[in-house]
Amino acid sequence: MDGKTLKPTKDYNPRWSADSYLAQALRRIGASEAMKHLLQASYREVKFELPLVRKDGSLAVFHGYRVQHNHSRGPFKGGIRYHPSVNWEHSHALASVMTWKTALMDIPFGGAKGGIDCDPAMLSSSELETLTKRFIAKLGPLVGPDQDILAPDMGTNAQTMAWLYDAYSQGQGDEPAVVTGKPVGLGGSYGRAEATGRGVAMVAAWAAQAEKLNLTGATVAIQGFGNVGSCAARFLAQRGAKVVAISDVRGGVYSGDGFDIETIIHSKEAGGKSASILELAGRGEAISNEELLTLGVDLLIPAAVGGVLHENNADQVKARLIVEGGNLPTTCGAAEILRDRGIPVVPDILANAGGVTVSYFEWAQNLQRYRWERETVQQRLEKTLKEAWDNVQKKAEEESLSYREAAYTIAVGRVKRAIELRGF
Ligand code: NAD
Repeated sequence: MDGKTLKPTKDYNPRWSADSYLAQALRRIGASEAMKHLLQASYREVKFELPLVRKDGSLAVFHGYRVQHNHSRGPFKGGIRYHPSVNWEHSHALASVMTWKTALMDIPFGGAKGGIDCDPAMLSSSELETLTKRFIAKLGPLVGPDQDILAPDMGTNAQTMAWLYDAYSQGQGDEPAVVTGKPVGLGGSYGRAEATGRGVAMVAAWAAQAEKLNLTGATVAIQGFGNVGSCAARFLAQRGAKVVAISDVRGGVYSGDGFDIETIIHSKEAGGKSASILELAGRGEAISNEELLTLGVDLLIPAAVGGVLHENNADQVKARLIVEGGNLPTTCGAAEILRDRGIPVVPDILANAGGVTVSYFEWAQNLQRYRWERETVQQRLEKTLKEAWDNVQKKAEEESLSYREAAYTIAVGRVKRAIELRGF
């Protein structure tokens, strides 16, 4: 599919971008038609109904999805998203992104993704627990520590992972390694909750250095102030960057003086979850999510939904560097425009891979029944991400590729090699 023909707005389909990035990589590494098919198609896709009796007695029917894309390099691994947009196309695209991400990090997992097409903000905690436990019951033997390991994504968190762990263990015996991102008090790893945002900040720092951008005092705009966006903001601020714009689903806020990120995070944690980002920030100018993307900042971090940088706004982006905190935020057509305009983009499969990397550490700790120190987790995260960054930067330089092209070339090449080694 040609990414340039995308309609990026409400009919945005993340598969177009995911498939285009893959197709380009396959052309670069040279793959037969049969191999192309194997790398593009999913190993298995399941969809099921999830009926739920609401608190008011009405019956709602949601849909659960799990796409297991590829497991040539190890068990399927990927998040569970709760969002009204969850469907086949999103799950497939995000599952394939996981396959390339785990390969690029060189961790022994494949790729999967899924979730429920619900808005978690509209459900009570007990409704969410029921839905979550029903989800895992329906997946049954398709998941497990050696089969498919679940993790948090948009709309899910450590509590959701605790429910998944509990539901799975009811039938299978105690098995914490079936899901990562659990609370630390329930088999979770130190450092997992903030790992994705921490990794985004690390990769942003290396990329800034490579692009001769001084991170100290650099202005940063972050779309999405959830797990990834808020942690990235915190760690970038700790590195001396000035976060001047943040947003959530309802809109954003801008202040040229920068925000006190710690105060905003604390207000959010202290019961401010329903407050708007403008209320949490306490000052600044209200801006839309679209305006945030085209601010004249040094660093732009899209850390929410997919497809926000598209053919209709890529030529208005003024950031000097883009680091993809969220998955698939840039359509293939936009990636070409940004490359032609000389705006470097660090792709999701590298920039936000800190989460799956510490998920791997959590899985390893659960299998060993042995907890690692927080410092060990952080050192190993940095080592793994740095190796991946160095490989991508080297390949990009040597072969005059964008960071995304280099990352996909390495990742897809590794999965292709694994398939060949296993044989048919
Ligand atoms: P989250 O649910 O914690 O936060 C999402 C944030 O995005 C919230 O602030 C929400 O209000 C905002 N948002 C939702 N829809 C939006 C829209 N249409 N426009 C602007 N903002 C919107 O989710 P998260 O875990 O931080 O995930 C964010 C992104 O990062 C997703 O793309 C996810 O796939 C990706 N990701 C997450 C992890 C992880 O460990 N949580 C790991 C890798 C990648």
